[in-house]
Parts: sequence; structure tokens; C-alpha cells
Amino acid sequence: MSTKIIIIGGLSAGPSAAAKARRTDENAEIILFEKTEHISYATCGIPYAMSGKIKTRDKLMVVQPELLKKRFGVDLHLNEPVIDVDTNAQLVYTRNGSYSYDKLIVATGGSAFLPPIENVQNFENWAFAKTIEDFDKIMKRGVIENSEHITIVGAGLIGLETAENLVHAGKKVTVIELSTQVLANWNMKFAQMAANELLKNGIDLKLGTSVKAVDPATQEILLSNGEKFFTDFMMVSISVKPNTEMFVSKGANSLPNGALIVNERMETSLPNIYAAGDCASIPNMLTGNYGWFPMGTHSNKAGRVAGANAAGANETFMGGYGTAIMKLFDYTIARTGLGSKDLDRKNIPYKSSMIITGTTPGFYPDPKDIFLEIYYDPEKGTVLGAEMIGESGVDKRVDVLSTAIYAKLTIHDLPRLDLAYAPPYSPAKDPVVVVGYVAENGNKGNYEEVNVTAAKTLINETKDLTILDVRNPGELHNNGSIERATNIPLDDLRNRLDELSKDKPILVYCAKGLRGYLSSLILAQNGFKNIYNLAGGFNAWKNMY
Ligand SMILES: Cc1cc2nc3c(=O)[nH]c(=O)nc-3n(C[C@H](O)[C@H](O)[C@H](O)COP(=O)(O)OP(=O)(O)OC[C@H]3O[C@@H](n4cnc5c(N)ncnc54)[C@H](O)[C@@H]3O)c2cc1C
Repeated sequence: MSTKIIIIGGLSAGPSAAAKARRTDENAEIILFEKTEHISYATCGIPYAMSGKIKTRDKLMVVQPELLKKRFGVDLHLNEPVIDVDTNAQLVYTRNGSYSYDKLIVATGGSAFLPPIENVQNFENWAFAKTIEDFDKIMKRGVIENSEHITIVGAGLIGLETAENLVHAGKKVTVIELSTQVLANWNMKFAQMAANELLKNGIDLKLGTSVKAVDPATQEILLSNGEKFFTDFMMVSISVKPNTEMFVSKGANSLPNGALIVNERMETSLPNIYAAGDCASIPNMLTGNYGWFPMGTHSNKAGRVAGANAAGANETFMGGYGTAIMKLFDYTIARTGLGSKDLDRKNIPYKSSMIITGTTPGFYPDPKDIFLEIYYDPEKGTVLGAEMIGESGVDKRVDVLSTAIYAKLTIHDLPRLDLAYAPPYSPAKDPVVVVGYVAENGNKGNYEEVNVTAAKTLINETKDLTILDVRNPGELHNNGSIERATNIPLDDLRNRLDELSKDKPILVYCAKGLRGYLSSLILAQNGFKNIYNLAGGFNAWKNMY
């Protein structure tokens, strides 16, 4: 008798599971229920379809229902939500009746979340920005064509992607965020650089506040800080809540947000029930704890494993560690592993090293810098995470460092990686190699590398601190400097050491960190103690202060 597999949800994890189940078992009976009329469209493309970068709606439709039916023999039930499940009798219920299963795959994803907003029930001009139905509502109402001003609620990855695309569509955009920074879970430096890019492109950022009320008569938004402004349309992109109530109420183990806890075979705690995608919780491979990574990368891969195993295979998906990337106008911002905020929150000891360096050699035209910080275990040197922003080559470095994390490489391995080099792509010493060198140097104990926040604390709290700026005078003149800094250019330092006191701690900085490092070595070898080099130099400082 053939295995009867039922899949609930037809967007990302569901179709992935269905196709893999078919590839694993030609004889399985596979039924997929999807509550809407759409399957397998590119949610990730929706912001780009709003700006017209993706020119037509049909480009978002990745897999046509016919393909799933014909090529993969899936019995597709569109517009048929599963409304209940009997986990003992192994039945799911829809409005059309009950269906039995041998194996059930939950791929129900998550629903967008609306915080309490006074009068929102009477306010017509708003939508979520999550599903194709949201997109259709926005387009059918002519929001993009007819609005001058659009408000985005939520400055996470999707909110900011949407904001950028609306700017490209010629709109004035305001972004409202409850946290005091955009990208709330990122290191403040990187969030600030992202915010600078948004401001530079005309986006009005309102941080540390939330939408308290909307006024349907005047089309005004009232913020919790008392501010009020007119908007043509509001898009809400705050968070997603896993659609799992049906299973949590039957006793499935879950995280507090409802994400179903699965093992590496994607099995939930309920018999013969698998879960994959945004509705599931997978292990954070760095901490071993269950985490929630609502990303298209995981939904596709985890769906595949759930489908294979439901059809009798024995495949595993080990979890994730938070790799993400986003385009922000001319910049790309990315991260992998644990960021400084995660590490602080979890009380995990770490050291960090930051560099600002070219992603192509200085002699090659149009050089661009990458701001790159890695976090690593202070004892073993194992790379724990990285955050970065830049105008080119960010995608390559984040994936190299993600691979380094997966392979449990240390800061000492990074300079030994044989990375590709030719002038259009990389300097001879790739930024990943350089950050490895810097981390190793910083660990040798003859000077200490400090980030901008630590430098600020040093300046505020250290008595008799000498602040030494080793840039050339023209650079100070053009770009500014840290208050109270003494300027001795690196190339003059050896001859002017007697102008500095060996008894006082010294904070050294240059433009990006390299000359500060060389100066720190000169100082250390000439008997200076308590030397701090500002990681990322004045370029990092001026982004924050
Ligand atoms: C605008 C946007 C941009 C994004 N960009 C990126 C990106 O660049 N990179 C990235 O990695 N991720 C991105 N994501 C996240 C990614 O799209 C999601 O992680 C992924 O779609 C999750 O897939 P899923 O199948 O688990 O859930 P979903 O995509 O939420 O699909 C769940 C499906 O289940 C159906 N369903 C729910 N309940 C029932 C029921 N009871 N019966 C039947 N059907 C049901 C729903 O209708 C839905 O079709 C983005 C998301 C959005 C919204």
C-alpha cells in the first residue's frame, strides 16, 4: 500500500517537501492543502515588484500549480484551508471533510502581526507587505501610482527593503521603529551605517516610537511620542507569528512564539508529524539551543528534508545560525552567526576585531571599502559571528565567514584560506584574510583593539588619556577629528615619541585602523604601555558620533 502524505501549506517549505517526497517515493500519495489560491510564489521578490524592478507580477510565480500536479503527481487542493487535525486518528479536516494521513507535513508558515493601533479597524489605507494577496491589494488600489507619501511600520530587513523600493518608485517614505535603531538585533555601528544610508536617500526615520493611533478622517498617523503626520498609505512589516495553534493545542512542543520544535529529521513531538519553514523551530548550530530563523533559505532546505523523510528516507537538517543579507541602496549589509547583541544577551564571552578595508586593490578603479567585524571565542579563537556593510563584495565575504563558522574555523585559519584574487574581485590580501591577521595581532597582547563604543567609554572615563591621531594633517582638516586629539602622523611618530608621556594610557587612531595598528606597534616597542587602537579608525567613529 502506498504511503499517504499530507502537506499543509503551499508556499515555500510545502512545495519543496512535496517535490522531494515524490522524488523519494514514486508510489506515495501526496496531497497538498493551501488555503489561498496561490502556491510557490517569491515572497522575497515582492518589495522589488513594488518598485518595478521585477517588472510583472507573473515573474513572482515560481512554480505553476500544473507543474506540481503533472510533474510531481501532487493532488493539489487550493483554496482549501486545513481547519483541524486529529493527531490520534491521523486525520486532517477541511470544509470538504476529513482526509487520513500516514505522514503529515506542517508547512503553514507565519502570519503578519498587527500591534494594537487605535482606529485601525476604520482606516482603509493600510496593508501588510507579506503575501501576494497583500501585494495585490496594494497594486489594485493604485497605492504605488497614486501615493506621494508611504509609511512603513517596522525597520527590520523586510521593512527596509520595502522602504528602499518605494523610494525607487518615487515615493516619500517614513519608517517607524519602536527600537532606537534600525535592524534592532544588529550591532549599533552597522545599524547606524544602514540608517545613514537611508537618511542619505531621503527616508524619514522615526526611531524609538510606535504608531499609537490612525485618524481615518484626516489620514494622519499619531505616534507614541506625540508626533502626528499625514500619510497616503501605511504598510506594516513588524513580525511574523507561526501558524501552529492547531498543533500546539494538541500538545506539540513549541517555542513561546508557537514555532514547532523539530529534531534534525524535521519530526515534531507529535507522532508522524513533520514541520518545516517559518512554522518550525530549528537548532541554532552555534548555541545548541532551539532558535527561530524565518528565512527562505531554511524553509526550502528543511521542507526538502521533511518531504524526503515523510516518504521513507533518512535525511537531516541540522539547523541554522542566522546568516542574512540585504541590499540598501548602494550598500549591502550582511551578518552570519552570533552578532555582538546575541553574544551579550546570552552572556557568551567573545572578542571582536573590526577592519575597514578595500574590497579591491587600491590601484584598481573605483575602490570601495567594507566595514567588517568578526566575533570570536577568546580562548579557542573559533569564529562565532560576523557583521558587515559595504558597497561591493559583501556577499562573498559573508558566505566565506558563514562557511568558516560551519567548519568551526578559528581566527588563525582565516589568513590561511586560499581565496581567489584578481584586481576586479579582491585585494591580494582578502578582507577575510586581513580580519584574521588583525584578530591574531590583537590577541598578542602588546596593544588592545577597541571598538568605537569602548573608545568612547575610554575617553569619558580614563583620566589622563592621550588621544593620538596618526593621520596626516590634511585628513584632519578635511574629515574632522576626535576632540582633544594630538596629531602626530605615523611617518613622524618615531622622531616625536618624546612629545608623548609613557605614563599615560594612549588611544591611537587613524582613518581605518591600519596606521593605528602600525603606530601601536611602534609605541609598544618603545616602552609605552596601555595602548588602545581604535578599530575601524575615524571612519568607524564618525558613523557613530
Ligand atoms: C517581503 C518578504 C521578503 C523576504 N525576503 C527574504 C529574503 O530575501 N531572504 C530570505 O531568506 N527570506 C526572505 N523572506 C522570508 C521567506 O519568504 C520565508 O521565510 C518563507 O516564505 C517561509 O516559507 P514557509 O513555506 O515556511 O511559509 P510561508 O511562506 O508563510 O507559507 C505558508 C503557506 O501556508 C499556507 N497556510 C497556512 N495555514 C494554512 C492552513 N491551515 N491550511 C492550508 N494552508 C495554510 C499559507 O497560505 C501560505 O501559503 C521574505 C519574506 C517576506 C514576506
